Amino acid sequence: MTGGAGAASARRVGFVGLGNMGGGMAANLAARGFKVAAFDLSAEALARAEAAGCVPAASAAAAAEGAEAVITMLPAGAHVAAVWREALFPNAAPGTLLADCSTIDVATARALHAEAVARGFVAVDAPVSGGIAAAAAGTLTFMVGGSEAAFARAKPLLAAMGKAVIHAGGPGAGQAAKLANNMLLAASMVATCEAFALAERLGLDPQRFYDIASVSSGQCWAMTSYCPVPGVGPASPADRGYQGGFATALMLKDLRLALEAAAATGAETPMAARAAELYESFASEGNAGLDFSGIMRRFR
Ligand code: NAD
Repeated sequence: MTGGAGAASARRVGFVGLGNMGGGMAANLAARGFKVAAFDLSAEALARAEAAGCVPAASAAAAAEGAEAVITMLPAGAHVAAVWREALFPNAAPGTLLADCSTIDVATARALHAEAVARGFVAVDAPVSGGIAAAAAGTLTFMVGGSEAAFARAKPLLAAMGKAVIHAGGPGAGQAAKLANNMLLAASMVATCEAFALAERLGLDPQRFYDIASVSSGQCWAMTSYCPVPGVGPASPADRGYQGGFATALMLKDLRLALEAAAATGAETPMAARAAELYESFASEGNAGLDFSGIMRRFR
């Protein structure tokens, strides 16, 4: 991006992928004065973006034309690779910032980064932490992979959609941070659930166990910020029947990406492997749409 924040009204940003996450993110950019040329394969998603102040584009290629930056927020690596190679590379002007905010595999992120830079683009991988509510509220955390210069260029744009923009390292480092973080969360959530279940079987009241463990060495985010036991700890999806929140299917997607990365690098991840098995079986029992903390039900 060039110029100061006051020039935002003149800036054209392409946005491809207006689903649960991208819809809110694009709306926040529009609300902050960016001219957002938005595209999604879904007509409904496109109509919602238009109602939120974006300008609908006829294709991903059209969204990229004349844009200073193009953001992608798509389901997986294959979608991002197709859009970057077939729509953005041939149609965006050299020097354009290409920022992928989807959660994808590190290898694809690095390959796309190299191809983009070779064509004269500035590229970052910038996956997010925070769910649909944070995307809508503009309070996402962005973990950014790319050169110092690319990060400096991307930061003000990403800051318009989030509360924190952190430089993780070189190309792919944003995805690496995202996958390692979510792998830790998956394992710690399962551990939290089994600890509550054991305490209960031993006759402990869950609230009493929470009061003790939350100020003892077992304390972790899965317990004290997202407690999987209904009625215990701050409000969480457990208190609304595990509806909303972060779907088990999405947690499984991130776990599989983490295990893939572990296999590729020879990293040992036995806890993540077991967590993936447990989430696979939980999802296959009709729970793929439930929040991932719903796995508590399996242990109770
Ligand atoms: P989603 O399925 O709601 O949205 C994806 C959108 O991409 C859809 O609207 C789809 O029509 C569109 N799309 C697919 N292929 C396209 C193409 N070729 N051109 C244009 N549009 C195309 O998914 P989401 O929940 O918004 O997630 C998006 C990304 O963010 C994923 O990588 C996900 O892992 C990640 N993520 C999601 C959450 C969450 O809580 N939902 C949190 C963090 C990260």
